Amino acid sequence: MGCTAKDVIAALRAGAATVAEHREELVQLDREIGDADHGENMDRGFRAVVDKLATAAPETPGAVLKLAATVLISTVGGASGPLYGTAFLRAAAAAGDVEELDAPTVAKLLQAGVDGVVARGKAELGEKTMIDALSPAAEAARSAAESGADAGKALAAGAEAAHEGAQGTEPMVARKGRASYLGERSAGHVDPGARSTALLLSAFAESAGA
Ligand code: ADP
Ligand code: MG
Ligand code: MG
Repeated sequence: MGCTAKDVIAALRAGAATVAEHREELVQLDREIGDADHGENMDRGFRAVVDKLATAAPETPGAVLKLAATVLISTVGGASGPLYGTAFLRAAAAAGDVEELDAPTVAKLLQAGVDGVVARGKAELGEKTMIDALSPAAEAARSAAESGADAGKALAAGAEAAHEGAQGTEPMVARKGRASYLGERSAGHVDPGARSTALLLSAFAESAGA
């Protein structure tokens, strides 16, 4: 089964609920190596997405993702706003005007998101950013799709890889973003953006019925 616009809307609502639920945890992670606002930034942004979706009714997955991108860019603030916004915008462009996302398309969208974040933030793997969760997620989703997984299962494989990737940021020294100001002292903490990426992907996967 693929994901229609309605499914993508449901996934974003699930993402918003998870972000709200983990708001304090994300604030705490960002307090350790940043400025203690990642949970607030993400919660504000995803609440605004949900609000917007209550009035607008985009009819394709791509249109839903584009709307989310626009709202995130204008409401999240911080480094993560433009980065998540760009990820959703690139995913929207990759979705084009198809009515339903199948597993290979979901994997393609995730990869487009990775490429967007990298184009914007110039982070490489191992620099302790959301890329360390998102990039392995795209790879795992692609491999699951190639083995015949449906869209939900491909997302679930992506989410699992994202959680491992986020956990893997703990020993890393940050090379990008605010945490990089701490140098070696950034080691020993999970990157907040990598954690939020993993949480969002889990919510999307669950919502897709995986
Ligand atoms: P700010 O650091 O401006 O307060 P947030 O706290 O909302 O913004 O987001 C911080 C997160 O953004 C980091 O944990 C990291 O995952 C991500 N991030 C920061 N800079 C980059 C970058 N250049 N590339 C990818 N991700 C980045
Ligand atoms: Mg911050
Ligand atoms: Mg900030």
